[in-house]
Formats: sequence, structure tokens, C-alpha cells
Amino acid sequence: MKLRDALGRCPTELLIGGEWRPASDGRRIDVHDPATTEPLASVASAAENDAVDAVSAAARALPGWAATPARERSAVLRRAYELMTERAEYFATLITAENGKALADARAEVAYAAEFFRWYSEEAVRLAGTVQHAPAGGYRILVDRAPIGVAVLITPWNYPAAMATRKIGPALAAGCSVVLKPASDTPLTALATGALLAEAGAPAGVVNVLPADRSGAVVTAMLDQPAVRKLSFTGSTEVGRRLLHGAADRVLSTSMELGGNAPFLVLADADLDDAVRGAMLAKMRNGGEACTAANRFYVHESVAEEFASRLAEAMGALRMGPGLDEGTEVGPLVNAAARAKVDELVRDAVDRGARVRTGGRIPDRAGHYYPPTVLDRVAPDSALLSEEIFGPVAPVVGFRDESEAVRLANATEYGLVSYLYTRDLRRGLALAGELESGMVGLNRGLVSDPAAPFGGVKQSGLGREGGHEGVLEYTETKYIATGW
Ligand code: NAP
Repeated sequence: MKLRDALGRCPTELLIGGEWRPASDGRRIDVHDPATTEPLASVASAAENDAVDAVSAAARALPGWAATPARERSAVLRRAYELMTERAEYFATLITAENGKALADARAEVAYAAEFFRWYSEEAVRLAGTVQHAPAGGYRILVDRAPIGVAVLITPWNYPAAMATRKIGPALAAGCSVVLKPASDTPLTALATGALLAEAGAPAGVVNVLPADRSGAVVTAMLDQPAVRKLSFTGSTEVGRRLLHGAADRVLSTSMELGGNAPFLVLADADLDDAVRGAMLAKMRNGGEACTAANRFYVHESVAEEFASRLAEAMGALRMGPGLDEGTEVGPLVNAAARAKVDELVRDAVDRGARVRTGGRIPDRAGHYYPPTVLDRVAPDSALLSEEIFGPVAPVVGFRDESEAVRLANATEYGLVSYLYTRDLRRGLALAGELESGMVGLNRGLVSDPAAPFGGVKQSGLGREGGHEGVLEYTETKYIATGW
């Protein structure tokens, strides 16, 4: 689809209570194209009183939506899945335009995002409680599940569609109404998703979308409203920590999907072709701008040289260019700050002695490009082994034995996902148990699946999204001691 047509169809005002309206103080956000740095669109930027209005609209819509038969809520989500799938090119074009990722990555994101609507349309009609005999006899323990209430959803720029549907899908399935605050770099996809849900039949006020560049003030204003009972956040650990402090004042239920620092372990017996294919997925999906991106490659010293050179060959061969060009495999990074951080991490590693196998330099062209980069002989104190790189950079470090590999893998405050390649499945399962992460890719470079519980341990988060667990995050457990 042509960019002009996609932009022409996309709403640019706030969605509050079923109406599109400008910010009360007229403020706007300029959305930029990372491939050119040129402005793409201007979007309304909510003020604090708009945020209060959005929560009120969600609170008014809540009782009706919570009382709507699950079968009907399910049908709305199913229709949203169908509409998003039919309009995949529209959504992919918007995602690429505002985020920069290659169209192939954006199309994969749309398919993934739509699947959350389908999965939760199926979960909506399967929310069951339990009944049991009280052990002492005399009554029954009846456990029911009720929608938790109005949910505030905050999403990052790296998956502007999927991070929104991964929250909206289960919230609507459970009977909650929501206010979505997307990242300021990528509000267009969120606004298009809001319009799509209205068309799919979500009643006015059930889904409100509120772009806001005064994020702190606007989110605080929402969390201060007594109607809000849930905060679901995806973003950096730093902002997540701050929001947890804010949520504590009102004892809000929180779900936190935070940063990662994924280790990718290649044991001596691994199938190297398979490991390099997995590494390309784990590192280069979304150009490295993924919380699940492999951040550190620990490879047995007997195969480290071979692995680094094969990975460098594969990464060096990727075509970098504007995401909207069909042949592009790696687009630009989202903004200038993201690229500056990646470059700083690479410079630091090189200053400490790392060898550049491919890439490693900002190209001389417009746009926020950084080339696919492989470094080996990386010193242990290099910052990119402890910080999230969030770009197309793969540092390779050799290890001597498996206990050293697990120790290195676990030496981080993060614990979202780990990857492990070995031909010995029994050994692999035993090591997977030792890795401190909420998810493990065992001989797989991709773990994300709407049917699976996605989430981290340690400072990578609280709670799970996806699977059956995802819908439970939007419910409150109610126990009724019942004389029978
Ligand atoms: P971020 O800076 O933490 O921002 C995330 C969201 O929070 C944005 O909507 C942002 O709005 C908002 N925000 C920023 N400061 C805020 C504040 N003081 N109060 C309330 N909201 C605030 O993260 P990002 O740079 O967009 O995304 C990258 C991070 O997300 C990485 O760390 C990545 O690992 C993580 N992530 C995690 C997962 C997961 O599932 N675990 C998935 C994807 C990404 P503005 O844009 O307006 O600042």
C-alpha cells in the first residue's frame, strides 16, 4: 500500500468515549520517518484533563461491557482479528513508516498482533471458576472470576501493534474497558487499532486511545483516578520501576513486561547451521529492537571462531535500506538517540579490545541507520554485555564449560528469555531449568506465540501476557463460601 494512502486513512486525534477529538490544549506530536528523519504526521497529544476524561469514558462503558455475554465479546475480538488480517498491508505500512522496521518484519508483526485478537476471542468463552468441598465439610468453596475494572495500558515503540493487541485482547475478553497510551514515536498504529476495534463492534468507551508526549503527567493523572484498577506496562525496566512506585499508592494490580538481556548459548555439540539460523532470528528480528533480542552470544571455545565467522557472513549479507522498499531486510533504528546508544556500546567494546567481524560504523547516509555488526573477543567488562543493546549488534564470547556458560548467562539483573543450542535434548532441558529467565528457546531462535505465557523473572517483569495466563491478569478472583 502507498504510504500516502495509509496516512490518509489513519486517524490522528484522541479516541475518547467513541469520539475523535483534539487535545484540550491543542498540543500535537510530530511523528517522524526514521528512514528520512522527515515528519510524517501530526497527532493530538493528550493533556492531563483529557486523560481524566478517557478514564471516565472507560468507567462509564465498563458495567455494560462486563455484563455483555462472553460470546458477544468474543465475536468482537474475532471480527477485530479478521479486519486486521484483511488490512494487513495498511497496518504494516503504518508500522514501517513510523518505526522504521523492514516491511517483512512489519507484516510478521501484524500477523502476530492479529493472533492475539483471535486467541483471546477463544479465551473469552473459556473463563471458568471452580467449586470444591470445604475440607472440614459443611459448605462449598466457590471461586469465580470477575473483570478487574478499567485498565491503563502503556506500550513501547518497538512493536506498536502487537504490544497493544497483547493487552487489549485479554482485557476485552475478561470484560474490562481500557485506555491505551502508545509510545510517542509510534502513535499512528495505535490510533488505527482503536478505529479497527470500534468498527469490529467494541462499544464507545470500551477502548480509548491517548497519544501523549507528557507521559509522566498524563499517566499519573490516570493512575490517580479511583476507577482505574489495573496498570499493564511494556517498556524499559527504568520506567517500569517508576510506575510500580506510582501504582503502590493506590495498590493497583500491575503487569510489567520490561527490558531483557538475553543470552544465546551454543554448546560444543550444537548443529552450527541450525544455531546460526536461530541466531539470525533471535538477533535480527525487528532489526534487533526487541526485548527478546539475543544480546550476548556465549559459544563453546571449540566452535566460537567458526560460529562468529558464519554469523558475520550472514549478518553482513543483509540488505539495509528504507523499510518501505520491498528488498530491504534491515531498516533504520527508531530515532537518533537509539542509534547513538548502539554506537556508544560498540565503541566501548572496541576500545576494550573487541574485534569487529562485520559492520561497526554509522554509514554516511540520511536516516537512523546502523549496520548489522558482529564483534568477537569481547572483554567481560564491556557495557554491551550488561546493557540492553536494542540494535543489530551481536557480541560473541567464548566459554570453557557449561557451568561457566550458565554462570555468565545468569550474571544479569534481567531474566526475560534465554536461548540454548545443543543436540542433547536431555542436557538442554536440564540447563534450561538452570537459566534464570521466564522463557527459554531450546534449539529455537523465536519464543513469542500468542498461545504461550510470555514474561520475565528478576527485573524483566511481573506477570505474563499471552496464553491462558494472559487473561487472568485482567480478572479478580472472588471466593464465595457457600452453604449448600
Ligand atoms: P520506555 O521509554 O520505557 O517507554 C515505554 C512507554 O512508557 C512509552 O509509551 C513511553 O511514552 C512511556 N513512558 C515513558 N516515561 C514514562 C513515565 N515517566 N510515566 C509513564 N509512562 C512513561 O521504553 P521504550 O524505549 O519505548 O521501549 C523499549 C523498552 O521496552 C526496552 O527496554 C524493551 O526491552 C522493552 N520491551 C519489553 C517487552 C517485554 O515484553 N518484556 C516488549 C517490548 C519492549 P513516551 O514514548 O511518550 O516516552
